[in-house]
Amino acid sequence: MRSFLLDIERFETCTNRNIFTCPIVLDIYIVNSIVINDLMTAVENIMTRRKAIPKKLRFEVFKRDSFTCQYCGHKSPDVLLVIDHIEPISKGGTNSILNLITSCQACNAGKSDRQLTDTSILDKQRRQLEDLQERKEQIEMMFQWQKSLLNLDDQLTNQLAEFWSELVPGFALNERGIKILKSHKRKFGLEEVMTSMKIAVDQYIEYIEEEPTKQSVEVAWNKVGGICTNRKRARENPIEHRLYYIRGILNNRLNYVDNGLALRLLHDALDANISIEKLEQHAKTSTNWSGWRADIEDLIERQNLHNKKSSKEDN
Ligand SMILES: [Zn+2]
Repeated sequence: MRSFLLDIERFETCTNRNIFTCPIVLDIYIVNSIVINDLMTAVENIMTRRKAIPKKLRFEVFKRDSFTCQYCGHKSPDVLLVIDHIEPISKGGTNSILNLITSCQACNAGKSDRQLTDTSILDKQRRQLEDLQERKEQIEMMFQWQKSLLNLDDQLTNQLAEFWSELVPGFALNERGIKILKSHKRKFGLEEVMTSMKIAVDQYIEYIEEEPTKQSVEVAWNKVGGICTNRKRARENPIEHRLYYIRGILNNRLNYVDNGLALRLLHDALDANISIEKLEQHAKTSTNWSGWRADIEDLIERQNLHNKKSSKEDN
């Protein structure tokens, strides 16, 4: 029993982990208590050998290669990754990051000319233990990597917020503004948000003695999301975008517009084969909502009648 306790202590010292969190070791101990001594030596050997490439450097290589085997494309944690020397150490290769590459075990084994001579159970168990430790380290590394990507996301948002402050000197976004900015960035992308910010500032900022007014800065800021949406719609659905534009003309000209109905009527008109140019021209001459509405409804009705007649003649 005493020797077992000593073994546990050695195991815990050399792996920095509690033996009871390592089921393989425990199993092995239960199956054959003599094996454990050899196992400890194996673990110690593994730990010393790993030191050849420092953990930090391995992390850099894995990060650079996106935790992906550079030979076959398999990723951690689906496969266990190893660091491979492009130019083998035996042929003068070094541990420089340029000579290191991420490989999965299978690809690495295929490259190596090392033959497994000892296939005893003990050897297999040693490898299992080695893999277990390696897996644990890789998962920790992946978490760190993901965390650093999260930080990157925050950094980009902060840079966007700084960009806004440069566009409207003297004004900074508050916490809520930054939250909204983050959501814009996720939805539309960094470049699009920057472009829309510039458009909003060009269109809505008013200056008093060369200083942007607080009110106009607020208006401009509130327009950024809408500008992003409009630009996206213009790219993805140009016709829909033009209908929105025509409705915008109405909103600019008329005291009252039922926005939902206006868009529906514009769609109906388009469906009835009335040209978009005609609709735009008509909007530009409208003077009140009920007049525009009556005109459009009349236009649609006449055009539909005309369509029916010409399709009958065709038959
Ligand atoms: Zn591979």
